[in-house]
Amino acid sequence: MISLGGTIASTGADASAGVTPRLSGEDLVQAAPQLREIADIETVEFRKVPSGDLTLSDVVALAHEIEGLFDDGIDGVVVTQGTDTMEETSFALDVLVRSTRPVVFTGAMRNPTTLGADGLSNLVASARVAASSDAVGLGTLVVFNDEVHAARFVRKSHTSSTATFQSPNCGPLGWIIEDRVRVVARVSRLGYIGDVVAGEMPDVALLTMTLGDDARLVSRVRDAGYAGAVIEGFGGGHVPARTVPAIAELASQMPVVLASRATSGELLESTYGFAGSERDLLSRGLVSAGSLDALKARVLLSLVAATTDTHDDVVATFRCVVDSLWTFSSGDER
Ligand code: ASP
Repeated sequence: MISLGGTIASTGADASAGVTPRLSGEDLVQAAPQLREIADIETVEFRKVPSGDLTLSDVVALAHEIEGLFDDGIDGVVVTQGTDTMEETSFALDVLVRSTRPVVFTGAMRNPTTLGADGLSNLVASARVAASSDAVGLGTLVVFNDEVHAARFVRKSHTSSTATFQSPNCGPLGWIIEDRVRVVARVSRLGYIGDVVAGEMPDVALLTMTLGDDARLVSRVRDAGYAGAVIEGFGGGHVPARTVPAIAELASQMPVVLASRATSGELLESTYGFAGSERDLLSRGLVSAGSLDALKARVLLSLVAATTDTHDDVVATFRCVVDSLWTFSSGDER
């Protein structure tokens, strides 16, 4: 169990000052004796921060830590962290960890000082999944509220509900009932994108298109030092016509991915023909995020740019991962 902080680890010395990440992984394990019936558990204190303070470089270092644990013979890993960025960190690990052994992210929405705190039940459920042979080969998972979600699909959908994690396009892959793990849909592993070195990561800008947008920010992306950009357009992948010249120019300078600000579905490719439509943007060199949301597309583009040099290779590797999102498997890799 690798602990990174977050609400699951947050208590307060003085209730009036609010809670902050203080508990160690060992504290959490000690508080849930049920864990001992599930597995022999080792704890690793990796970070103790609100998850908004994590960086992609931290996540790359976490991937190396996990590979090292698997090399040492560990069968499965549970990562505890804050929920705020879990949809990004868990997805990054999906393409950074080579092993097929289970990697499960979890956390809490209610901190340990509140009634109905959910951290320990999430922790125990996660341990059951990480120890289950049914979780082998599924890529990184988020286990929360007794549901098993694929990192590639999951999103944080609510500010405070314990059911905040949802996979809008397909629902959870399974659930936990009493001590049983049920996996009812098996996704294939996403491709391992290669060794990424922790440190300076290529920065990727994320720009959401808004009503009446005039692309003022788009034209500043290059000078601000970004190596790539994600344009989070409207609906099926649209932007205002007046923004197209700036976006097209950016796409001639760096990889630019088109995602949608709609919370589910997949980008269109060939329906609309107006200026700023998906057809227009894709014909100008933007790369479709498919069904990947903008947050995950940004993480993927940054990681791919860290492993690959040329524009064409970055685009090809990005497309390869997007194309494999919806590959389901029979489970033979277990
Ligand atoms: N509210 C957050 C959590 O669920 C805080 C964080 O992400 O660290 O853990």
